[in-house]
Amino acid sequence: MKRVCFGLFISFSRFKAVSTVIFLLLISLFGHAQTKPDSNVHVYLLIGQSNMAGRGAVDAESKVIDPQIIMLDSQNHWVPATDPVHFDKPIAGVGPAISFAKQIKGNNKHVKIALVPCAWGGSPIKVWEPGEKYFAAHPYDDALARIKIAMQTGVLKGILWHQGESDNDSARATIYLSKLKALVNRLRTDLQMPELPFVAGEIGYFNKANFINNQINRLPTEVANTAVVSAKDLVDKGDQLHFNTASARELGKRYAVAMQQLQSNKTVHQPTTNKPAVVVLCFDDAEISHYTIVAPLLKKYHFDATFLVCEMPWKAKSDSQYYMNWQQIAALHKMGFEIGNHTGHHQNMTKLNRAEMKREIGYIDSMCKLYNIPKPISFAYPGNRSDSLSQVVLQEMGYRYARAGGSQYYDPQKDAKLVLPSYTMGSTEKLQERTWTALKNLQPGQILLFTIHGVPDIAHPDYTTSVEVFTQYLDYMKERGFKVVAMRDLEK
Ligand SMILES: [Zn+2]
Repeated sequence: MKRVCFGLFISFSRFKAVSTVIFLLLISLFGHAQTKPDSNVHVYLLIGQSNMAGRGAVDAESKVIDPQIIMLDSQNHWVPATDPVHFDKPIAGVGPAISFAKQIKGNNKHVKIALVPCAWGGSPIKVWEPGEKYFAAHPYDDALARIKIAMQTGVLKGILWHQGESDNDSARATIYLSKLKALVNRLRTDLQMPELPFVAGEIGYFNKANFINNQINRLPTEVANTAVVSAKDLVDKGDQLHFNTASARELGKRYAVAMQQLQSNKTVHQPTTNKPAVVVLCFDDAEISHYTIVAPLLKKYHFDATFLVCEMPWKAKSDSQYYMNWQQIAALHKMGFEIGNHTGHHQNMTKLNRAEMKREIGYIDSMCKLYNIPKPISFAYPGNRSDSLSQVVLQEMGYRYARAGGSQYYDPQKDAKLVLPSYTMGSTEKLQERTWTALKNLQPGQILLFTIHGVPDIAHPDYTTSVEVFTQYLDYMKERGFKVVAMRDLEK
C-alpha cells in the first residue's frame, strides 16, 4: 500500500515537471508572437568594402538627424542614423547609406528606414563567405547575425552591396561574377527570402584599373531581382579610390532608385490569389479643390474616384472660389472620373416628399445631359441622411449606388447598394485618427468607401483634408497595393 502511494507521488511530480516545461514553452512562443516585427520598419543590409562603409569627409549635413532613419550600432542597438554609419575603421566617413535612406523613404511619413551597416574596408569578395575571417571580423557571419537581430524589429526590404576594388585585377576579375552570384544566392537562402532585392554598385571610374565593372554589370542578366547602379560622373576624394562626400551621397540616391524599381517589379510579378483591398474615393459638394488639386493628383497615382456634385443653395457667381462650375465638372468627366449626384441643392432627403426628391435628383441628371456627362448612377445623401422612400426613388431613377455614412466597411453580402456605409476622411486630429484606423485595418477582399470634402476645404474647415495629409493617405494606399476605384466599379 505504501509503495503504491510512493509510486503515485513520483509520477505526479514528473507530471508537474513536464507541465512546467510546456508552460514555459507556451510563454516563450507567446512572447515571440508579441514582438512581431513592425511592417513599417524597412530594414536594409549594407555590405561590401570601404565605399559602402563611407570615406567621404563628414560635414554639417552628416549630423542632421531624421527621426525616420535609424541604424544598428556596433553594440546592436538602434540609434538615430548619422555619418559615419559604419564603424569598420576609425576613418569611416560619409557613404551612400543616409542619402539612400532619405531617397527611398520619400514623403512617406509612416515608415522608418533601418540601416544595418556591415561593410568592411578593404575586404575582398572571398572573405564574404561563411566562416571566413577578415582581421577581427567574420564579414559574412557577422552580417547574417546582425540582420537577423534587425529583423526582430522590422522587415528586410533589400541588400546594398558595394565592393570590387580589392578584386580589381585581371586574375581575380575572372572569378568575381561567380562569387558574387554565389553570395546573392547564399544570402537569400540563409534568410529564406528567395526574391530579396539585391543592388550592387559599380566601382568609381577613377580607379587606376578597370577589370571589375564589366563583371558586376553582368549580375542582373544572371540573377533575378538584382540591379547595378552606375558610378558614371562620380568623383573621388583625391585618392583615386574613394568617393568624395557629394559623390557618395549621389551614389546612395542611385541605389534607392534601383531598389525601388526592383521592389515595384516584384509587386507586379507576384501572383496574388487573394482579392485586393479596395478603396472607393467619393468627393462631395463640388468643391473647387476637386478640380484644381484632387483630380491632377489622382491622375499621378492612376487612381479613380467619383465626384458627387451639387449646387449649394447659397451659391452665387462670386462663389467660384469655393465651388466648381459645370465646365469644370465636365472637365473631370473628360479626365475619366465618374460624376455622381449629391442632389441639385444639397437637400436633406428625409425632409422631402416624392415629387421634391425627383426634382432634386433630376436636376443633376439634366445638368449632366446639358454638359455631355453620362447620366449618373451613383448618389451620395447630403448629410448622409437617407430613408426608405429616398432609396425607392433613387432606384426608380436608375441609380445603382447610394452612399451614406456610418464609419464601417462595405460588405456586399450584407449591405444594401443604396445605403453604402462610408468613413469620412479628413486631416483634423479626430478625422485623421479615424482615417488611419480605417486604412490600416483594411484587409484583402474588404471594401472601404471614403467621403471626402475639399482638399483643402476652405468653405468647411472642420471637414478639410490638407494636401499634405491627403498625399500621405494616397501614398499608403499605393504602397499597400490597394485598388482605388470609383463607385461605378463596385459592380466588378
Ligand atoms: Zn455634402
